[in-house]
Amino acid sequence: MKLLEEKIRAEGRAVNEEILKVDSFINHQADPVFMKQVGELFAEHFKEKGITKVVTIESSGIAPALMTALALNVPMIILKKQPSRVLNDKLYQTVVTSFTKGTSYELTLSDQYICEEDHVLIIDDFLANGEAATGAVRLLRKAHATIAGVGVLIEKSFQPGREKLTEQGITVYPLARIGKMDKDYIEFLPDEEQNEK
Ligand code: 5GP
Repeated sequence: MKLLEEKIRAEGRAVNEEILKVDSFINHQADPVFMKQVGELFAEHFKEKGITKVVTIESSGIAPALMTALALNVPMIILKKQPSRVLNDKLYQTVVTSFTKGTSYELTLSDQYICEEDHVLIIDDFLANGEAATGAVRLLRKAHATIAGVGVLIEKSFQPGREKLTEQGITVYPLARIGKMDKDYIEFLPDEEQNEK
Protein backbone atom coordinates (compact mmCIF):
# COMPACT_ATOMS: atom_id res chain seq x y z
CA MET A 1 0.00 0.00 0.00
CA LYS A 2 1.77 3.07 -1.32
CA LEU A 3 -0.10 5.43 1.01
CA LEU A 4 1.04 3.51 4.11
CA GLU A 5 4.66 3.58 2.96
CA GLU A 6 4.35 7.33 2.34
CA LYS A 7 2.88 7.87 5.80
CA ILE A 8 5.61 5.78 7.43
CA ARG A 9 8.27 7.79 5.57
CA ALA A 10 6.65 11.11 6.49
CA GLU A 11 5.52 10.46 10.06
CA GLY A 12 7.19 7.23 11.25
CA ARG A 13 10.41 7.12 13.22
CA ALA A 14 12.72 4.14 13.56
CA VAL A 15 13.84 4.31 17.18
CA ASN A 16 16.51 1.67 16.51
CA GLU A 17 16.93 -1.42 14.29
CA GLU A 18 13.84 -3.05 15.79
CA ILE A 19 11.23 -0.50 16.91
CA LEU A 20 9.25 1.77 14.61
CA LYS A 21 7.16 4.55 16.12
CA VAL A 22 3.99 5.40 14.22
CA ASP A 23 2.11 7.12 17.03
CA SER A 24 0.69 9.93 14.88
CA PHE A 25 -1.56 7.69 12.75
CA ILE A 26 -1.70 4.19 14.31
CA ASN A 27 -0.65 3.79 17.95
CA HIS A 28 -1.57 7.00 19.76
CA GLN A 29 -3.60 9.10 17.36
CA ALA A 30 -5.62 7.31 14.67
CA ASP A 31 -6.35 8.76 11.22
CA PRO A 32 -9.95 7.67 10.45
CA VAL A 33 -9.81 8.39 6.69
CA PHE A 34 -6.62 6.37 6.39
CA MET A 35 -8.01 3.56 8.58
CA LYS A 36 -11.11 3.36 6.38
CA GLN A 37 -8.88 2.80 3.34
CA VAL A 38 -6.91 0.16 5.26
CA GLY A 39 -10.13 -1.68 6.16
CA GLU A 40 -11.30 -1.59 2.54
CA LEU A 41 -8.00 -3.04 1.32
CA PHE A 42 -8.10 -5.92 3.83
CA ALA A 43 -11.76 -6.55 2.96
CA GLU A 44 -11.01 -6.55 -0.78
CA HIS A 45 -8.19 -9.06 -0.32
CA PHE A 46 -10.18 -11.46 1.88
CA LYS A 47 -13.69 -10.92 0.44
CA GLU A 48 -14.01 -14.39 -1.19
CA LYS A 49 -12.81 -16.27 1.91
CA GLY A 50 -16.14 -16.62 3.69
CA ILE A 51 -15.11 -14.62 6.75
CA THR A 52 -17.67 -14.54 9.57
CA LYS A 53 -15.75 -12.47 12.17
CA VAL A 54 -12.78 -10.10 12.33
CA VAL A 55 -10.66 -10.57 15.45
CA THR A 56 -8.02 -8.26 16.88
CA ILE A 57 -5.89 -7.84 19.98
CA GLU A 58 -6.41 -4.75 22.09
CA SER A 59 -5.56 -2.00 21.62
CA SER A 60 -3.84 -0.77 18.43
CA GLY A 61 -5.50 -3.35 16.19
CA ILE A 62 -9.00 -2.11 17.04
CA ALA A 63 -9.19 0.78 14.55
CA PRO A 64 -8.10 -1.19 11.43
CA ALA A 65 -10.06 -4.28 12.55
CA LEU A 66 -13.27 -2.30 12.99
CA MET A 67 -12.92 -0.71 9.55
CA THR A 68 -12.26 -4.13 8.01
CA ALA A 69 -15.30 -5.62 9.77
CA LEU A 70 -17.41 -2.70 8.53
CA ALA A 71 -16.27 -3.27 4.94
CA LEU A 72 -16.92 -7.04 5.22
CA ASN A 73 -20.21 -6.47 7.08
CA VAL A 74 -19.31 -8.88 9.92
CA PRO A 75 -18.77 -8.39 13.70
CA MET A 76 -15.39 -7.44 15.17
CA ILE A 77 -14.10 -9.11 18.33
CA ILE A 78 -11.39 -7.77 20.64
CA LEU A 79 -9.16 -10.30 22.36
CA LYS A 80 -8.64 -8.89 25.84
CA LYS A 81 -5.31 -8.72 27.56
CA GLN A 82 -6.97 -9.24 30.95
CA PRO A 83 -10.03 -11.25 31.88
CA SER A 84 -13.04 -9.04 32.47
CA ARG A 85 -14.20 -9.21 36.10
CA VAL A 86 -17.82 -8.67 35.18
CA LEU A 87 -17.98 -11.65 32.83
CA ASN A 88 -18.81 -15.07 34.17
CA ASP A 89 -18.63 -16.67 30.75
CA LYS A 90 -16.47 -19.59 29.88
CA LEU A 91 -13.14 -18.04 28.88
CA TYR A 92 -10.44 -19.28 26.54
CA GLN A 93 -7.01 -18.06 27.65
CA THR A 94 -3.40 -18.23 26.49
CA VAL A 95 -0.19 -16.50 27.62
CA VAL A 96 1.52 -14.11 25.16
CA THR A 97 4.87 -12.35 25.49
CA SER A 98 4.77 -8.67 24.51
CA PHE A 99 7.56 -7.66 22.14
CA THR A 100 7.47 -3.93 22.85
CA LYS A 101 7.00 -4.09 26.59
CA GLY A 102 9.05 -7.21 27.34
CA THR A 103 6.24 -8.54 29.54
CA SER A 104 3.69 -11.35 29.37
CA TYR A 105 -0.08 -11.11 29.40
CA GLU A 106 -3.01 -13.49 29.29
CA LEU A 107 -5.03 -13.20 26.11
CA THR A 108 -8.70 -13.86 26.82
CA LEU A 109 -11.77 -14.66 24.73
CA SER A 110 -15.29 -15.40 25.91
CA ASP A 111 -16.91 -18.46 24.34
CA GLN A 112 -19.99 -16.28 23.70
CA TYR A 113 -18.48 -14.57 20.69
CA ILE A 114 -16.72 -17.33 18.72
CA CYS A 115 -17.92 -20.79 17.81
CA GLU A 116 -16.73 -23.66 15.65
CA GLU A 117 -18.67 -22.37 12.63
CA ASP A 118 -16.60 -19.18 12.58
CA HIS A 119 -14.01 -18.50 9.89
CA VAL A 120 -11.91 -15.68 11.27
CA LEU A 121 -9.70 -12.93 9.88
CA ILE A 122 -7.13 -11.68 12.41
CA ILE A 123 -6.10 -8.01 12.03
CA ASP A 124 -3.27 -6.28 13.89
CA ASP A 125 -1.06 -3.22 13.53
CA PHE A 126 2.38 -4.89 13.51
CA LEU A 127 3.77 -8.34 12.86
CA ALA A 128 7.17 -8.62 14.54
CA ASN A 129 8.07 -11.81 16.43
CA GLY A 130 4.59 -13.18 15.83
CA GLU A 131 3.83 -13.78 19.51
CA ALA A 132 0.59 -11.80 19.51
CA ALA A 133 -0.68 -13.30 16.23
CA THR A 134 0.26 -16.89 17.13
CA GLY A 135 -1.39 -16.34 20.53
CA ALA A 136 -4.58 -15.23 18.76
CA VAL A 137 -4.40 -18.31 16.51
CA ARG A 138 -3.98 -20.60 19.55
CA LEU A 139 -6.95 -19.01 21.26
CA LEU A 140 -9.22 -19.22 18.22
CA ARG A 141 -8.25 -22.84 17.67
CA LYS A 142 -9.16 -23.57 21.31
CA ALA A 143 -12.61 -22.27 20.36
CA HIS A 144 -12.53 -24.61 17.31
CA ALA A 145 -12.82 -21.66 14.89
CA THR A 146 -10.92 -21.74 11.58
CA ILE A 147 -8.52 -18.99 10.47
CA ALA A 148 -8.82 -17.32 7.06
CA GLY A 149 -5.56 -15.39 7.50
CA VAL A 150 -3.75 -12.59 9.29
CA GLY A 151 -3.79 -9.02 7.95
CA VAL A 152 -1.25 -6.57 9.37
CA LEU A 153 -0.51 -2.97 8.50
CA ILE A 154 3.24 -3.33 8.99
CA GLU A 155 5.26 -6.51 8.76
CA LYS A 156 8.83 -6.19 10.00
CA SER A 157 10.11 -8.87 7.67
CA PHE A 158 13.48 -9.11 9.38
CA GLN A 159 11.74 -10.58 12.43
CA PRO A 160 10.38 -14.15 12.51
CA GLY A 161 6.61 -13.52 12.83
CA ARG A 162 5.69 -14.40 9.25
CA GLU A 163 7.61 -17.74 9.35
CA LYS A 164 5.94 -18.70 12.63
CA LEU A 165 2.51 -18.18 11.09
CA THR A 166 3.18 -19.79 7.70
CA GLU A 167 4.66 -22.84 9.47
CA GLN A 168 1.22 -23.25 11.01
CA GLY A 169 -0.51 -22.96 7.64
CA ILE A 170 -1.65 -19.35 8.23
CA THR A 171 -1.63 -16.87 5.31
CA VAL A 172 -0.21 -13.42 6.09
CA TYR A 173 -1.27 -10.29 4.19
CA PRO A 174 0.82 -7.20 5.07
CA LEU A 175 0.10 -3.72 3.69
CA ALA A 176 3.74 -2.67 4.11
CA ARG A 177 6.86 -4.78 4.59
CA ILE A 178 9.99 -3.38 6.17
CA GLY A 179 13.14 -5.26 5.19
CA LYS A 180 15.58 -3.23 7.25
CA MET A 181 15.62 -0.10 9.36
CA ASP A 182 17.70 1.96 11.72
CA LYS A 183 17.59 5.49 13.14
CA ASP A 184 16.18 7.72 10.35
CA TYR A 185 16.41 4.96 7.74
CA ILE A 186 13.64 2.59 6.57
CA GLU A 187 13.88 0.14 3.66
CA PHE A 188 10.64 -1.33 2.29
CA LEU A 189 10.31 -4.65 0.50
CA PRO A 190 8.22 -4.73 -2.69
CA ASP A 191 4.48 -5.33 -2.54
CA GLU A 192 3.84 -9.07 -2.94
CA GLU A 193 0.77 -8.62 -5.12
CA GLN A 194 2.45 -6.31 -7.67
CA ASN A 195 -0.68 -4.14 -7.74
CA GLU A 196 0.36 -1.28 -5.52
CA LYS A 197 -2.37 1.13 -4.53
P1 5GP B 1 4.83 -9.57 17.98
O1 5GP B 1 4.04 -10.40 18.93
O2 5GP B 1 4.59 -9.92 16.52
O3 5GP B 1 6.30 -9.55 18.31
O4 5GP B 1 4.42 -8.08 18.19
C1 5GP B 1 3.11 -7.72 18.03
C2 5GP B 1 2.71 -6.49 18.79
O5 5GP B 1 3.82 -5.75 19.34
C3 5GP B 1 2.01 -5.58 17.84
O6 5GP B 1 0.64 -5.79 17.96
C4 5GP B 1 2.42 -4.21 18.27
O7 5GP B 1 1.47 -3.71 19.16
C5 5GP B 1 3.72 -4.39 18.99
N1 5GP B 1 4.89 -4.05 18.14
C6 5GP B 1 5.81 -4.91 17.63
N2 5GP B 1 6.77 -4.25 16.99
C7 5GP B 1 6.46 -2.94 17.06
C8 5GP B 1 7.09 -1.74 16.57
O8 5GP B 1 8.14 -1.74 15.91
N3 5GP B 1 6.45 -0.59 16.83
C9 5GP B 1 5.28 -0.52 17.55
N4 5GP B 1 4.73 0.68 17.72
N5 5GP B 1 4.67 -1.63 18.03
C10 5GP B 1 5.25 -2.83 17.79
